[in-house]
Amino acid sequence: MSRIVFATGNEGKMREIRDIMSDMEMEVVSMKEALISVEVEENGTTFEENAVIKAQAIAAVTDDIVLADDSGLCVEALNGEPGIHSARYAETPQARIDKLLNNLTDVANRKAKFVCAMTLVDEFGNILDKEIGECYGEIATVQSGTNGFGYDPVFIVDGYGVTMADMSEDLKNTISHRANALSKIISFIKSELI
Ligand code: IMP
Repeated sequence: MSRIVFATGNEGKMREIRDIMSDMEMEVVSMKEALISVEVEENGTTFEENAVIKAQAIAAVTDDIVLADDSGLCVEALNGEPGIHSARYAETPQARIDKLLNNLTDVANRKAKFVCAMTLVDEFGNILDKEIGECYGEIATVQSGTNGFGYDPVFIVDGYGVTMADMSEDLKNTISHRANALSKIISFIKSELI
């Protein structure tokens, strides 16, 4: 296998994936590096459906294997919101955090989880593997930290007592929902494809 196209335009995710896969004898390229520019309408109703939709849409325009993910933050007291709407919850990253904190004003139950669905498809769009990774924590009352992206400054990771944005990238990449899903995908690649 020559290379995998990771179907994201998100630089933060791309850095994480590259880092996690750095010890593998396989090139992971972004859509930009593969010269792919396709707008995919993520109209699924679950993370899993959206990951499949993205992977198959990109596979239609490349000869490489494609890995796609769909991820987001699910907050228990908000009935799982923002969930699949995490990226579009408000206009900017800061506005999304502000909206989340506002919606949780005076709410005692701050339990939340990051979820990542990953799908690997071949160049014809056939599903090779589908995995889910989760990372549990709670929503802080004030934001903290400058690392990472998205909701990291308000997500306190269970067992660590600090937000994901307070963690080093290396630590986040061993405990994150994406790392968790990707380690299962990597096991599949190693046992079935290499
Ligand atoms: P996607 O690109 O459709 O998967 O959207 C994922 C959205 O969920 C991102 O734009 C972030 O708002 C949020 N998200 C997913 N993973 C993370 C993470 O590791 N840290 C912080 N926010 C995340």
